[in-house]
Amino acid sequence: MTTPCAQSDRYFDPHIETMPRDQLERLQEVRILQLMPYVYQRSPLIREVWDEAGVKPSDLRSMADFKAKVPFIDKDRIRRFRDTHGDPFGGLRCADAPHLRGVGFTSGTTGDPTPLPRSEHHTTIDGIQREMWHMGARPHDYMAYALFTFREGLNFDKFTASGIRPVCVPHLPFEVANLVAITRKFRPTTLFMLSTPLIMGLQQYQQKTGDDLREAFSSCRGVVFGGEPLSQSLRQLVESWGLEIFQLTSLGDIATCMECSAHEGMHTWEDLALVEHLDPSGNQPVPDGARGEMVVTALADDVGPLVRFRTDDLVEYTSKPCTCGRTHGRIRPLGRKGDEMLIQGRSVLPLDIFPLMHQFPATQSALFQLVRPQREAEVLKLRVGYAADLLQGSKEELAQAICAAVSAGLGVPAEVELVENAELLKNGPPNKIPRVTKA
Ligand SMILES: [Zn+2]
Repeated sequence: MTTPCAQSDRYFDPHIETMPRDQLERLQEVRILQLMPYVYQRSPLIREVWDEAGVKPSDLRSMADFKAKVPFIDKDRIRRFRDTHGDPFGGLRCADAPHLRGVGFTSGTTGDPTPLPRSEHHTTIDGIQREMWHMGARPHDYMAYALFTFREGLNFDKFTASGIRPVCVPHLPFEVANLVAITRKFRPTTLFMLSTPLIMGLQQYQQKTGDDLREAFSSCRGVVFGGEPLSQSLRQLVESWGLEIFQLTSLGDIATCMECSAHEGMHTWEDLALVEHLDPSGNQPVPDGARGEMVVTALADDVGPLVRFRTDDLVEYTSKPCTCGRTHGRIRPLGRKGDEMLIQGRSVLPLDIFPLMHQFPATQSALFQLVRPQREAEVLKLRVGYAADLLQGSKEELAQAICAAVSAGLGVPAEVELVENAELLKNGPPNKIPRVTKA
């Protein structure tokens, strides 16, 4: 039986994580009304966008005013400001040194990385500390920390508040032997993080060396997986090593957003970000649980806060309480708005392709790309990675079988080009491949 004490030990910050929803919404309103005059005065981008829309901070007296009046920004607008004004911060910077500690970038998977000014207190860490604690990490525990390199913001020294001690290893598939070695040496309780290429690297390492990964990872209470959807076969593989998987995504580049022990969506930290869930092609909210675009406003960043930033991320969002006891909302990521294709009028996202790849031994790694010269097409063109040693029959037979699976599963015609997995992986960044490509 769970005692109240053990219950509260589930949360790194019980006050914030379980704050009643009405209080959380009042906190958001207070933060918004405090922050907006400050941002308008200091951020050249926000001032330009608001002036165009004829909005002033004095027009905002409530959250309802904010949602009704404040104009949106997106990545294109930030990049345009950067290019036309020669401002490396894209007009987002509100403060200078010592508060401004550098500039970060979005991952750039879909194009030019977008600049994001970073403060000395990176709010991303607030979220990650809660998430790692909930996975079971405690002060003085080691955490195997294999982060892909351009996520500069997640400096490992920032973990000091929670007392978790990161041991850093490169996020590189050919260096997984190091990852295995340090888990044996330091016995970390958590592992941050695995990606499709890293899991494939571990699988090859296991096949080549016969090493017992279940034993190597036996100290880990949980492992983070992020970057993109997890294929069913890779999930089974990781679980066969005795690891519980917690999927992670980005909360519109403001914070992280990770599954809890309930595994029913990823928690949106709503003291750090105001999350809106809107019609992807309009400005109106969509119903709780429906498919919508995530729009975020940073609530705890006074160096470069995003305000009504259209993330281009399609999500299902709910603010219903979670069985883990937290009151913050949850999302299920569906893909990028810019990745959606309309094949003969039917919506197709990369997420829809993952389960189909599970049907064939040679495509279990689910490395594939949608070829998308434009949004609408008559036939779905797919480039699919395969493992040559697992091919049953000819390549042509596999391509035909995948086309039949797409037709049966999604109701659209397909053309499939097969490429060896190693070739597709060259399209990096190291943690994933672009799921949509123009050609
Ligand atoms: Zn939860």
